Amino acid sequence: MVTDDGLSEEEVAFRDSVRSFVARRIAPNATRWDLEERYPRELFQEAAALGWLGVGFPEEVGGSGGGATLFALLCAELTRGSAAIALGLYVHTALAASAILHLGTPEQQRRWLPDALAGRRIGCWGYAEAGAGADISRVATRARRDGEHYVLDGAKLYITNSPFADFMVIVAQTTPGRGLKGMSLFVVDRATAGVRVSAPFKKLGMGASEMAEIVFDGARVPAENRLGAEDFGFIEALKVLSLGRVASAAQGVGLGQAAIDEALRYCGNRMQGDAPITQHQFVRFTLADMVTRIEAAWRLTLRAARLIDAGSDYDCAASMAKLFATEACTHVCERALHLCGAQGHMRESAAQRFYRDCKVFEIGEGTSEIQRETIFRHLAR
Ligand SMILES: Cc1cc2nc3c(=O)[nH]c(=O)nc-3n(C[C@H](O)[C@H](O)[C@H](O)COP(=O)(O)OP(=O)(O)OC[C@H]3O[C@@H](n4cnc5c(N)ncnc54)[C@H](O)[C@@H]3O)c2cc1C
Repeated sequence: MVTDDGLSEEEVAFRDSVRSFVARRIAPNATRWDLEERYPRELFQEAAALGWLGVGFPEEVGGSGGGATLFALLCAELTRGSAAIALGLYVHTALAASAILHLGTPEQQRRWLPDALAGRRIGCWGYAEAGAGADISRVATRARRDGEHYVLDGAKLYITNSPFADFMVIVAQTTPGRGLKGMSLFVVDRATAGVRVSAPFKKLGMGASEMAEIVFDGARVPAENRLGAEDFGFIEALKVLSLGRVASAAQGVGLGQAAIDEALRYCGNRMQGDAPITQHQFVRFTLADMVTRIEAAWRLTLRAARLIDAGSDYDCAASMAKLFATEACTHVCERALHLCGAQGHMRESAAQRFYRDCKVFEIGEGTSEIQRETIFRHLAR
């Protein structure tokens, strides 16, 4: 129930076109893809053909224009069909390709973006490590300059898309001991000697999204593959990769909406005697609360997206949207599973998939605690 209030005609038309593709191509296959634990790679090219990989990218580099609001609508609708599918597309565009757009030179953009936005070469984003998670200053992967190359040593953990990615955008330490002010970004070709990707991990949720560890063992990366200034690439990326928290909030809205759809369907069809279980006030009130939370989450998300598009300060608004929408999503997915009873617990049911998928939104793109710290920082200013 994302209402049309506040959206332009163009935005409504865009949202409806994504919604109809998702209903036809993604939602009917989502359970099967989840159980198979394999990402349908062809979706990258299908999304590219529809112009969706290029949302937020200028036409000169193969993009289709648009900004944060269109991207939020895209994320919400894709996630309504499958959170795992949306996650793979999101990491490729909003993290890997976006880092190249914002930090790359025109030559670097020409080298990598047209293939990425056409879905011919897929990217992943390698920040997290065994010792670097919520605290972003702990990256230990080392990039040591050696003539015209950097030599990378270290390991990146939990990297979405890495089992099949063609290129990797990697955060590595170029000057040890300087925390965030000593970290750079590199585009690493998968075929580089000394780069090894583990077997895909088994996860609680996001079954169709593939994730693995990437190990760098003396991998020689050309110096021309560094994005942004040496020592400042990561800190710059944190400033310019503005879509992350808003996209995460939108994903929470989309998944929450999918859970509501499923609970409404089940409760409307589940008969006790002659009447559906919506005869019970508990069921009606639970559904009413669920939809109210997701509507509020969408409002915060839209507000943050609008601020980004207007070039205004969005930092606090993005954290509020991310915090509220992802926690609302977890709550709503739990309630949906409850309302769907035993049928909801079956492996083939959508309700249990939503329940397994939702939690990650509270963890990625800055955990809820990190968002609360950001919001408090603004309060205390
Ligand atoms: C499905 C999935 C996909 C992912 N994909 C990617 C990817 O593509 N690329 C990538 O780089 N990473 C990826 N990650 C990893 C993600 O970046 C990390 O999970 C995230 O940064 C959090 O780090 P952590 O899991 O190590 O949590 P930890 O840092 O171990 O934190 C554990 C808990 O402690 C709390 N905590 C930690 N520090 C503080 C603090 N200062 N104040 C208050 N509370 C705190 C956290 O909020 C959290 O609840 C993915 C993770 C998942 C689950």
